[in-house]
Amino acid sequence: MYAIKGGDNKDDIKIGLQRIVPHIFGSHENCKDADWCSYHQNPEKFMYKSLPNGKPLKSEGLKVELNNLVTKMIGRSNSLNDLGSTQSNESFNQLVSVKAPKSRHYGGSCSLQNRLSAAVLQKNEGYGYLSKINEAAKLSPGEFTMAISAVRDKKMEKRKEKKNSKEYKVDRIQKKRNRNTNERKHLVREGKTYGSQMEFDQQQDPELTTEIPLPFNIDGTECKVFLI
Ligand SMILES: [Zn+2]
Repeated sequence: MYAIKGGDNKDDIKIGLQRIVPHIFGSHENCKDADWCSYHQNPEKFMYKSLPNGKPLKSEGLKVELNNLVTKMIGRSNSLNDLGSTQSNESFNQLVSVKAPKSRHYGGSCSLQNRLSAAVLQKNEGYGYLSKINEAAKLSPGEFTMAISAVRDKKMEKRKEKKNSKEYKVDRIQKKRNRNTNERKHLVREGKTYGSQMEFDQQQDPELTTEIPLPFNIDGTECKVFLI
């Protein structure tokens, strides 16, 4: 369940956005009609699922920053009301990139339109689209084409079912948690090794730059140690 979702009208989005910051800082007055906040079902036992120890956030500075961000988003609530699902957009982008890989520059070829149409058809109709095109063009749908597309469609259906199962989702969350723990471990051990505009941050803070020590100068006054 989400605070805002595609298909909401402009006012719903505005109200949804206004609820977010007070909710994570522990004030649920605006959440009464929200189906995603379970505070009003049992206020005493309410715990946040995604915040540390199930407790609300406290930092005033963060609250101000988040409020600023939400205010900006509210200003754009007009353009937010026809949002699609990011996941299906990504899946379609991936499909197009298979039919027209960027590395081949099909943008300079007449085949691009057909490649895009093929991607759209595969998304809407499944793998059987090729047989349907053949039939529409008064050609044989192709015995083997049909058999292969049936197998692929079945596989896709199974994958979809699996992805929607509770076990799969729990497993995905656990994997993400493990990945985050590993990342944090590495961060402690090695420091920050990658991030956007990292070089500028380092220049601003000269204390972060560590100098490599110069090689030792041996002048003959050192003690000699022999290992036998
Ligand atoms: Zn709430």
